[in-house]
Amino acid sequence: MSNSKMDAYLFCIHCDNETSHTIEYKNNHIHSVTCNNCGVEIKIDHDYVRKHFKEEFVVRVLSKPVRMTKEMEKDLTGFLVSLPFRVVTKPFRVYKEFHENK
Ligand SMILES: [Zn+2]
Repeated sequence: MSNSKMDAYLFCIHCDNETSHTIEYKNNHIHSVTCNNCGVEIKIDHDYVRKHFKEEFVVRVLSKPVRMTKEMEKDLTGFLVSLPFRVVTKPFRVYKEFHENK
């Protein structure tokens, strides 16, 4: 068991911009990626990823908390953008509350 968090600049589809994201790891796998700007959270379904993504970078990026390089941030953004809708969860309630509290 090892949980940790790290930050990376990734492209947020929702913000339509590169924003600071918090990447949360559980058991050495990315558990979720949260945009610090709008609060959209993407949860990673690893069973789905294992079945449908064979790219080496996915394994590399998703399997261990490592220092993000610019290249990896780009790869991860591409990966997140390519995820089908059912793999990601977008808690719009949180998003709404975030904006209502401004
Ligand atoms: Zn965002």
